[in-house]
Amino acid sequence: MNILLNQPPTADIQALDAAHHMHPFTANAELAAKGARVITRARGVWLTDSDGNRILDGMAGLWCVNIGYGREELAEVAARQMRELPYYNTFFQTTHVPAAALAARLAELAPGDLNHVFFASGGSEANDTNIRLVRLYWALKGKPEKTVIISRRNAYHGSTVGAASLGGMAPMHAQGGLPIPGVVHIGQPDWWSEGGDMTPDEFGRARARELEEKIAELGEDRVAAFIAEPVQGAGGVIIPPESYWPEIQRICDAHDILLIADEVITGFGRTGNWFGSQTFGIRPDIMTVAKGLSSGYAPIGGSIVSDEVAEVIGQAEFVHGYTYSGHPVAAAVALENLRIMEEEGIVEHVREVAGPHLARRWAELAEHPLVGEAKSVGLMASVALTPDKASRAPFAAEKGTVGYICREISFAEGLVMRHVGDRMIIAPPLVITPDEIDTLVERAWRVFDLTLAKIT
Ligand code: PLP
Repeated sequence: MNILLNQPPTADIQALDAAHHMHPFTANAELAAKGARVITRARGVWLTDSDGNRILDGMAGLWCVNIGYGREELAEVAARQMRELPYYNTFFQTTHVPAAALAARLAELAPGDLNHVFFASGGSEANDTNIRLVRLYWALKGKPEKTVIISRRNAYHGSTVGAASLGGMAPMHAQGGLPIPGVVHIGQPDWWSEGGDMTPDEFGRARARELEEKIAELGEDRVAAFIAEPVQGAGGVIIPPESYWPEIQRICDAHDILLIADEVITGFGRTGNWFGSQTFGIRPDIMTVAKGLSSGYAPIGGSIVSDEVAEVIGQAEFVHGYTYSGHPVAAAVALENLRIMEEEGIVEHVREVAGPHLARRWAELAEHPLVGEAKSVGLMASVALTPDKASRAPFAAEKGTVGYICREISFAEGLVMRHVGDRMIIAPPLVITPDEIDTLVERAWRVFDLTLAKIT
């Protein structure tokens, strides 16, 4: 019997899963005891589980299904490409149409002179590529001692050893002896949790200046690059104060440091422009992309680099590559995804319709007794749950992780929200309609009511 065509009862799938499947970012023994939720189908912004429940996917999968679920065009392109050329590599002086065409399309879309693409299968691999790219760049420029990469605490750049080192997630570093040498971290621009008595703008400038202090401490001649997400996603949708990015840009320019914008979440319309760098006025030398590039329909990512970086790297053989760099099926799917996004004006929809509507409705949540701040940019948003709005205090430890309690209630109420500590975050598919946004916000309010009832 083909299990994909004849779906067994939920309990049987859960049993198979519990016996053999190790889930990412999961305490697997705990999950096995309760049984994984089985998602079987999705259309638009709606998921269906194996018991027939419909759930509004407030997270677009893992921030990736920008175009929404169920687009036949992507399935057709994938099938056609699989028939024509399911695989060929891009090593050893070969190419194929999907990789060449997608690289050219990305060069058109990316800002400034970011005109060259090195493909990977996802964001982690692309960030590993970036570590090697920036070090080789400086070595070829006659400055081989410029190797250190500065990142930020609570950043997320992926799960490979290199990318997790770039990230600033303490629980990840605690497992397996990370970070690797040559990666250091400065503070994050999270005013709500760490801003103390400063105004957001004072705090944004102060956190940006930590970069300058770190460069001074290490010596400019040792620092290769600074990497950051325009908006920290997995860190809790931390939207930096307005003063932050201009100061970071000034510091990178002044000290000859390459700026890597990790656009894995913020790319492809999420903030109301094609890239978050455009929303925040950042001029990166390298952008990491993945997720929304194919709307998650196929695994693909990459590093988009400037003319200058590409020219320098091009002087040598870059001894680096992945079997699936520029995979033809993934590249064809990404091209079709970008075609649809442009044809249907999905970025404009975020900028002019869905983003402003979410901003209005999401801000209402700040009136809820459990919610401190409620902020959004484009179609990514967060609320900070707190027992005391005025002092921005965290919950007492004996309450457990209130965010976790809230997330579980949310799923049961038909809304996928994610929690990061006691922040609740959303990033729905970009095709979400104003009516669906109303449903999302109304469900979120009810979830906060139920959470409050549970912890008091
Ligand atoms: N960079 C950022 C900003 C991310 O949010 C993620 C994933 O969430 C990654 C990199 C890693 O991407 P992937 O999971 O495709 O390896």
